[in-house]
Amino acid sequence: MAMNHFLQSPRVRARTSASDSGVLSSLSAIVGEEHLLVDPERVEPYGQDAVKEKFPPEAVVFPRTTAEISAILRLANEARFPVTARGGGVGYTGGAVPVEGGVVLGTDRMNQIKRISPDDLYVVAEPGVTTYALQQAVENEGLFYPPDPSSYKASFIGGNIAENAGGIRSVKYGVTRNYVLGLQVVLPRGEIIRTGGRTSKNVVGFDLTGLVCGSEGMLGIITEATLRLLPLPEATGTVRAAFKTMREACACIPGFTGERVTPVALEVLDRNSINAVESMFAFGLSPEATALMLVSVDGTVEETERTLSIVERVLRYGGAFDLVRARTKVEEDRLWDVRRALSPAIKRYGTLKLNEDVVVPRSRVPDLIERVEEIGRRFNTFVVNFGHAGDGNIHVNYMCDREDPEAVSRAREAVKETFAVAIELGGTISGEHGIGYVKAPYLDMALDPASIDTMKRIKQTLDPNNILNPGKMFT
Ligand SMILES: Cc1cc2nc3c(=O)[nH]c(=O)nc-3n(C[C@H](O)[C@H](O)[C@H](O)COP(=O)(O)OP(=O)(O)OC[C@H]3O[C@@H](n4cnc5c(N)ncnc54)[C@H](O)[C@@H]3O)c2cc1C
Repeated sequence: MAMNHFLQSPRVRARTSASDSGVLSSLSAIVGEEHLLVDPERVEPYGQDAVKEKFPPEAVVFPRTTAEISAILRLANEARFPVTARGGGVGYTGGAVPVEGGVVLGTDRMNQIKRISPDDLYVVAEPGVTTYALQQAVENEGLFYPPDPSSYKASFIGGNIAENAGGIRSVKYGVTRNYVLGLQVVLPRGEIIRTGGRTSKNVVGFDLTGLVCGSEGMLGIITEATLRLLPLPEATGTVRAAFKTMREACACIPGFTGERVTPVALEVLDRNSINAVESMFAFGLSPEATALMLVSVDGTVEETERTLSIVERVLRYGGAFDLVRARTKVEEDRLWDVRRALSPAIKRYGTLKLNEDVVVPRSRVPDLIERVEEIGRRFNTFVVNFGHAGDGNIHVNYMCDREDPEAVSRAREAVKETFAVAIELGGTISGEHGIGYVKAPYLDMALDPASIDTMKRIKQTLDPNNILNPGKMFT
């Protein structure tokens, strides 16, 4: 079993192994033998997420009900083995991997949409519903669930809430937290609580819903979510524009505000991103483009047309060339394909991608990108920048070869400097991917000691035996 030795505390060492036969037969009695995996080959895939480092669990369980999860956590507290909740397993900070071993609790079987209420504008879903399935289900009713992480086809609602996921529509519609009205949660010792409710206003007691959102599976396991919905906009439209410099492109952003336009999405791609997608997929992007911007808007058909014209005017005035406006859904998809192609396209630059998601006030995006380019040059590391310029959340990707330890170490130093720059510019180290174990060593760069201590005390109060997802956030 993989163990990350620096993470082991004496308390961890005193734990019972989850592969103890008594523990396994109790787990089997709770979920049923067919929903318990122990074979090393079958548990192995549950030991990694999008970070691609391996920490195989001792066992994987797939409960169907809240009561089963409660029983598993009570057993874990008695026998003292770690439990790590897992959604779609596409997190970027190792949140779902069991770095201290124990049991992975997969929510795949809890995949029912229980209720959609068009009148009261909410949907009640289990945690194992994929973001995509939820979006499709509500759109069939003329309703809209805006949070849209790019991983939406694979990510689960439980994982989205635990990470407080953002997405390209965050500019106008905000992040997952803004859509969570209420939760059912199993606390680390097995108590079942309900937070919030089904109303859009609710100020009774502390905001436990807010506490659980973004808690990265460390404070409880979400077993049901009531999510706020909006009416589905009648139309959407997208414009793509090329620029000579990133600074020029970003200077257009306040122009939208001046024209009273709030884009749904406002993404940028830097020169290395453009070269990567163009050389792999030949989209026909202008060879003179060193920055690319994608702007989407929505509303009624008339509003959308009018807003797109305003967007084009602002972009042209700001120096844009090679402007393309999508007129149909298919054309819109084609424009967004450039952005979607980035992940596969940049793989050619290295076998290891250190994918960061720093965030700065949006007016500082050009400063951030220029500073990152300078860091890349200084550490002799290839860097690709793209992302959500509309909310200042930029994906900085340092590329290197996994097999070259010296290059990896230079890239890691570049990451640390990038975090320092983001903070210096008034931002922070993560806008949407969270901390997990990957960013845990940098937590104290972003938070003051009293804040970290407060968080540790909340964790200690709810989870005194450190059962739920140990080895994350605090090293
Ligand atoms: C290609 C790609 C694109 C991405 N794009 C975005 C993006 O645009 N925006 C964004 O925000 N993120 C993005 N991500 C990161 C990731 O997809 C999100 O963090 C997503 O929310 C993870 O969901 P998941 O179901 O895979 O969670 P997992 O990776 O399985 O788990 C993430 C965390 O949630 C906890 N967890 C899971 N289920 C529960 C539960 N039921 N109760 C309590 N805790 C739970 C886990 O313990 C873990 O700590 C991207 C990732 C990839 C690979």
